[in-house]
Amino acid sequence: MTTRDTVISVKNLSKYYGELSVLRKIDIDVHTGEVICIIGPSGSGKSTFLRCLNYLEKPTGGEITILGNTLYGISSGANVEKANEKNAREIRKNVGMVFQQFNLWPHKTVLENVIEGPIQVKKADKRASIQRAEDLLKKVGMLEKKNAYPLQLSGGQQQRVAIARTLAMDPKVILFDEPTSALDPEFVNEVLNVIKELADDGMTMIVVTHEMGFVAKAANRVCFMDGGYIIEDGSPQEVFKHPRTERAKQFFSKILNV
Ligand code: ADP
Ligand code: MG
Repeated sequence: MTTRDTVISVKNLSKYYGELSVLRKIDIDVHTGEVICIIGPSGSGKSTFLRCLNYLEKPTGGEITILGNTLYGISSGANVEKANEKNAREIRKNVGMVFQQFNLWPHKTVLENVIEGPIQVKKADKRASIQRAEDLLKKVGMLEKKNAYPLQLSGGQQQRVAIARTLAMDPKVILFDEPTSALDPEFVNEVLNVIKELADDGMTMIVVTHEMGFVAKAANRVCFMDGGYIIEDGSPQEVFKHPRTERAKQFFSKILNV
């Protein structure tokens, strides 16, 4: 039951690091409730793409519009920088990001980590923030650890707390950059299950991952990146079963046979 409202619209996005062309002619629209998984080899530009969406990296060319706020390529003219900084602030209010490394505050408890953003950034009421944090910790199965410190937790538990922390900011869309790549294999599924539940709740998400079982189950749409291009974009069924490019075929034949 998704509507077709556009949450993110990317037009002709490019990114260079010096001479190195990392993103090329990226065009993609993300709609409300869509779960897009981005897959592809290391170095293909997946992280750079997500980081551009949040203006953690400055795009070289093209446009990114998220909920009405536009980031412009830095080559497109004067005063762009200023507009971008302003729009990036608006974008960051609505876009959550979950990284491979969870980056929890080590000296704060689980609960303190989750209420930090709402209280410091959103100036939310403390009691309400605690109540909401407890609800979210329950949702990710971490309520009983609310008074623990991050280093007392497994990687999978820390990542679930990091997801609760992101949800506490009430994002309209969440970007996940290889959320399970730093985990021991035994903890991967507990995190993927939480992300799958968010997908089932209708959260709009872009998930960079190598977990193909998760992609097959959770994604409405799969984008395959290679050399800075999105070379495949379709349903999991289309992209896995009938890739249009040799490159994607090769990639799947390697990973699916291991
Ligand atoms: P992926 O996430 O798909 O593995 P990345 O987006 O991290 O790929 O990187 C894409 C390319 O950009 C790689 O060649 C990488 O070495 C290069 N790159 C990434 N970040 C930087 C940076 N800050 N400076 C220079 N090159 C970078
Ligand atoms: Mg990456």
